[in-house]
Amino acid sequence: MLDVQFLTFHQLALQLDDERQASQDAGETAGSLEVVSDLFFERLLSGIARRKLPGLHGLDLSNLPPGAWPALWTTMRDLRDATVDPSGVLRAVAEGLFDPHETPNLQALFTLHAAVLEAGRALHVGSADDLAAAVIPLVPSSPWLSRLAHVCYYGFYDVTQVQLSLFEAVVKRRPATLYFPLGDDPAFDFARRFFERHIEPLRGTEPTVAAPDARPETPPQIRIMDAVGPDDELTVACKEILTLVETHGYRFDDIGMVARTLEPYRAALRRTLDQHRIPFTTTAGSPVIREPAAKVAAQLASLPLTQFYRAPMLDVLTSALYRSGLPESDGCEPRPDLWRLAVREMGITRGEAEWQRLSSAGSLQVWASADAAEEPAEGTGQFRIDAAQLRLLAKLVARLIDDCRALPEQGSAVELTDAFAALAERHLAIPGLTSDMPGAGGATEQAAACGAAIGEVLAQLRQLDRLGETMRWDEWTALFMDAMERATMPVEPVEHAGIQVLDAMAARGLTFRALFVLGLNEKVFPRYVREDAFLRDRNRRLLDETLGYKIDEKLAGYDEERLLFALLQQAARQRLYLSYQRADANGRALAPSAYLDPFLRQEPLGRTADVSVPRRLSDRLELPLFTPPLLTREELAVGLILQGRDPVALLNSVGRGGALFAHGYAALHVIENEGRGLGEHDGVTGPLDRRWAALASRGLAPTSLEQYARCPFQYFSAQVLRLEPVRSDTSGDVSPLVLGELCHDTLHQCYRRLVETGWPQKECTRDALHAEIEAAAGAVCADYAKDHGTGYALVWQLARETVVVLAEAMLESDSEEFRASGFRPVQFEVEAEGSLDAVDPVAFKGLKVRGRLDRVDRRAQPPALRVIDYKYRHSGGERSADRDLLASAVRGFRLQPPLYALMTPEGAPAKPESVELAFLMRKPSPQVERARFESSAWNGPAGGLLKKTVQTIVGGIREGHYAILPDSYCEHCEFSAACRRFHGPTWWRAYSSPPTRLLRQLRKLKVPHE
Ligand code: SF4
Repeated sequence: MLDVQFLTFHQLALQLDDERQASQDAGETAGSLEVVSDLFFERLLSGIARRKLPGLHGLDLSNLPPGAWPALWTTMRDLRDATVDPSGVLRAVAEGLFDPHETPNLQALFTLHAAVLEAGRALHVGSADDLAAAVIPLVPSSPWLSRLAHVCYYGFYDVTQVQLSLFEAVVKRRPATLYFPLGDDPAFDFARRFFERHIEPLRGTEPTVAAPDARPETPPQIRIMDAVGPDDELTVACKEILTLVETHGYRFDDIGMVARTLEPYRAALRRTLDQHRIPFTTTAGSPVIREPAAKVAAQLASLPLTQFYRAPMLDVLTSALYRSGLPESDGCEPRPDLWRLAVREMGITRGEAEWQRLSSAGSLQVWASADAAEEPAEGTGQFRIDAAQLRLLAKLVARLIDDCRALPEQGSAVELTDAFAALAERHLAIPGLTSDMPGAGGATEQAAACGAAIGEVLAQLRQLDRLGETMRWDEWTALFMDAMERATMPVEPVEHAGIQVLDAMAARGLTFRALFVLGLNEKVFPRYVREDAFLRDRNRRLLDETLGYKIDEKLAGYDEERLLFALLQQAARQRLYLSYQRADANGRALAPSAYLDPFLRQEPLGRTADVSVPRRLSDRLELPLFTPPLLTREELAVGLILQGRDPVALLNSVGRGGALFAHGYAALHVIENEGRGLGEHDGVTGPLDRRWAALASRGLAPTSLEQYARCPFQYFSAQVLRLEPVRSDTSGDVSPLVLGELCHDTLHQCYRRLVETGWPQKECTRDALHAEIEAAAGAVCADYAKDHGTGYALVWQLARETVVVLAEAMLESDSEEFRASGFRPVQFEVEAEGSLDAVDPVAFKGLKVRGRLDRVDRRAQPPALRVIDYKYRHSGGERSADRDLLASAVRGFRLQPPLYALMTPEGAPAKPESVELAFLMRKPSPQVERARFESSAWNGPAGGLLKKTVQTIVGGIREGHYAILPDSYCEHCEFSAACRRFHGPTWWRAYSSPPTRLLRQLRKLKVPHE
């Protein structure tokens, strides 16, 4: 309606270029220039370097580190923007205008500048300033400009040579007013120098430009604030903003929030403003690569390069953005959590062949953790992943690998970029980039902005096509990653009314009723200015003062900082809040900016701010800024808790789970109380009658009783709650659990076959025994590999050799022992059952124990049975507890031997005379150690102690006492994540409770021997 247009310099250039293109005949492209990204020019520079053009040796481009190319391009761009003529400058270098020591370097630099200019002309590409330069000749004849009644310029105090030329052309064509920041203050020297040198001559005979004092008659109120870290800085600013709006009648769009750079505030900006319900718009951008969509896109591109390494493969396949392409009716609900375990368990690391194992796998038995104890309690540590889930994963993997394999190995930038875009379209659903999945129309603006930013990155890569290079997929991927890491997206993508959050450059020319300037710290505002490594300030000065090119010295940046701060002071009409961090978020002290010196209050202990925000919320609540109406829901809730008041109603009213809080708070109250005894939050459940009845009818397992004796809470987690530990093993080793299982199965198969041939009565040669073991180990390992995979080939081969060596040692040891004792193996993996009546005929009447015995040996004369149980020792040493099985039984460490002694093996006529543990140890010699428990011990001098131990343990299980009992084994405990052993009050309650004291006392019992 007002017919007023607001344009930046670049938008003005685009407007004029559009006008030119519209006036050309269709198909005519003469003079068209594509504005390309910095990435394009950096690639162009490295391409020129690769061609080793003469005259460039002074820059030693072949040894330039990758991070130096953007810096070199920045120098080149400064030369372009200053319209430096390379041939003229090279002549000046040859004539000795510059320091002779720098001649080779400068010659190379200006030669490179000439090459880049030439390449840009040949390829019809340029930067935004090149476009501005290209449209300057259009200004005199532009119909669009001729329609403008007046042109107003504002918001700059310095421009590049190209922008200055465009400005000159426009003001010559149309009546114009320039609003320029000039003041008496020395802070304006930077702007004044530009004005006097470049603007003053333009005024000619035109009326004098008016320059009224921009300062309001009443200076703004100034308030200085300090806080710790950017989060607190933002929080205090938000409180002040709410005060202005609620108490002083400000509108949100009257208020500005500015920092020299918004980078330190990116992470907390949206969260803090949203928590305070403050609407905002901002020029801040957040890095695209932090977004899940960007991460998964980057991983998708890298899959062929990593040979389908399992971590990125699983990250892509389990991403919420993954488009499986399978019909929902496939009948199997995808379980990405199980996929990770399955892939680890099958030992898939990388390569198509390894992934193909998935398609042939049946269901999978998964060991949940490689760190688990060497001998897990029965029924723990394993769970099953069914075949349908594995088939589903196999299908997804095959589809993904096939599509990645179809990517071209090399090609032009457009070919490779299009191939990736097609791959992303097929496998990912990223709003704003790929077509949405059906029903996924509710994409947030944030997600769409991320998709658009990735699309912009792909567009930049397509621009590289003009360079005519053929690149490999790995080169394309490196460029893609580089561009993604630089790309940003708007923090607030939607335009609306609200406070304006800007960086200091974007705030130039704007005014606010109230302005907050954040981050006034040394090296932040003013920023730390460095010289240009390729074109030092002394050379820039010569270019500027002697040769007449408008190119700024870098260290003049400090003058610009002063000017920026002065402009911000003027931008506040009524209130100005200056904020700095007295320490960073980690508590490291920070110095306030020297710009604050005139404003800080002088106190006896030094200069201080008007508002200094304490770190602790309880201290802050004393401040007027933290009164309840200004608190966020979170602060209010925490404040109520700190004051001992109930926040449940508040949490319920804002939908934040009041009931959950009440439950948690009550539990915490109990848990933190040191004075009381063990309770339900400590694992003391009291008798669980149904569970006990089921256990009694099924029979107690010795290993479970051992687990209870070790730590009742560990027993509770595994046997009562049936928690499944899901820590994944990243070592790549074959776990001790698996090695133990392989040894067991190999010995089982081997003995069965040998016994069938009449061994040990019939002698067997060493070679024949070895062949038998090799065959058994081979069959067992192949069987295992079919379901679980093998992992790294070398590690698997070593594991197989270990199994063979240990089985051989066991057979050798047994052969000698059989000859001496007259025992012969007769049963393998046999079920056995016994009664605990003998332990306590009243309390344990009818209570059964049960187990599965590895091997039963029989002796004909005198007739007797014995039980052999194999134990694999990964660490190689013998434990002191295993030297005396009677003592370790009495102390609750080993309960298998005494309880097996009470059992009758299925089909056997009697109970065993003894129980032997055979330890297979991964060490040079001896590799087999034996320990024996005589069944007669039950009736010997230690029998009473043995009964007491079993009574204590079984009694504890029946009574539901499952408190923690920490010790050195905690290091390997699968349930430590669910355990509060480091919590002082919990530890103390458990330590001082009678049931755990009894268990501890068992460990110190002295055992009388006959
Ligand atoms: S970490 Fe220790 S105290 Fe906790 S459950 Fe495991 S073994 Fe028991």
